[in-house]
Amino acid sequence: MTAHNPDLPKLLAMLIEQSLEYVVLLLDPAGRIIWANPAAEYIFGYGRDEMVGLESSALFVGEDVARGLAGHEVEVATRGGVAEDDRWQRRKDGSRFWAVGAMVSLRDESGKVIALAKVMRDRTDLKGQLEGLRNHAIALEQAARRKDAFLSTLSHELRNPLAPLANAVQLIRMSGSEGDLGYPLKVIERQTDLLRRLVDDLLDISRIGAGKVDLERQPVVMQDLLRHCVDDVRALVAERRHDVQLMVPDEPIRLEADPRRLEQVFVNLLTNAAKYTPPGGRISVGATIEGHEVVAKVVDNGVGIRHDMLPRIFELFTQVDSSRALARGGLGIGLALVKDLVAMHGGSVQVRSEGLGKGSEFVVRLPLATGEREGAMRR
Ligand code: ADP
Repeated sequence: MTAHNPDLPKLLAMLIEQSLEYVVLLLDPAGRIIWANPAAEYIFGYGRDEMVGLESSALFVGEDVARGLAGHEVEVATRGGVAEDDRWQRRKDGSRFWAVGAMVSLRDESGKVIALAKVMRDRTDLKGQLEGLRNHAIALEQAARRKDAFLSTLSHELRNPLAPLANAVQLIRMSGSEGDLGYPLKVIERQTDLLRRLVDDLLDISRIGAGKVDLERQPVVMQDLLRHCVDDVRALVAERRHDVQLMVPDEPIRLEADPRRLEQVFVNLLTNAAKYTPPGGRISVGATIEGHEVVAKVVDNGVGIRHDMLPRIFELFTQVDSSRALARGGLGIGLALVKDLVAMHGGSVQVRSEGLGKGSEFVVRLPLATGEREGAMRR
């Protein structure tokens, strides 16, 4: 049957002759065209005989001719490589199309190059799509940069009025004319403080994003740092009637860290624990040494986190339930900041929660100070 005994040379010739999309050119070893298929005629706009004898460079655009690309392509193919052809090509009328293809060498039994073959396809459509995507990516990048610049300006501008506000409250208190204003002044103080924290977080996240934050490392004792952080959130915790436990070993755990930045990490985690735990809940913060690291945990028995949210919780502006979070004063920055600051210290942070209503656990791992690491190895 013919199907099992095809006339291969004839079929191949038909394929090359009849394919309308694929240009097939045969060239002599010097790169002069010796044969072109009808698709070449159609796509390049030359008469078929006109093409024969042309240098392949006649099909290249001016800038590629100037760069010697036609000769380079012949050279690569002759050396036995595949010369990729993803570039603009020039039609007879000077217009361009985006070609995707390759040139290879054809050799006799002795390995001598007897001809070069070039196969290509007009993919101007693809180029258009790629360019569209590239423009889109550039636009996104510019938008992100504008957003960063906006965040930075916004946080600076929001910060400026806070200090005079706090000072004014201070002045009223000192003047002794507080009278019946005790409660409203307290409200202003607390709300200003909340705003200051939000704005500081915003400012920090934009500065870290711009690579403008350097750590000021110094010897830090983990126990002291955590005690300090617990003191810092005492008012919030008292207001919400939480029971806070600090569980640390007697022997000092020493780090080489920026204490201000680490305080920010743990105050953020503790504030969240207090915010997302109903009144009267339990919060514990502890630290132990594991290998070369200190492992610090902030655990609460509060509202917990849905399983599907766990992988996204550290992303900037992520809030599980924005109405709920906003009601408690938040922008979804705190955990992104925690993650960045811990990473800057060479550490990592993870979250665990068995689900809604099952509480949350945040685990921060940080490298011990060098001397401490050697001690840990001896222990
Ligand atoms: P926010 O300012 O909204 O608190 P964060 O980045 O600190 O932003 O936290 C992101 C989200 O993660 C919060 O909106 C909250 O839904 C969830 N979350 C953070 N900590 C806890 C926690 N201890 N318990 C339950 N949910 C939490």
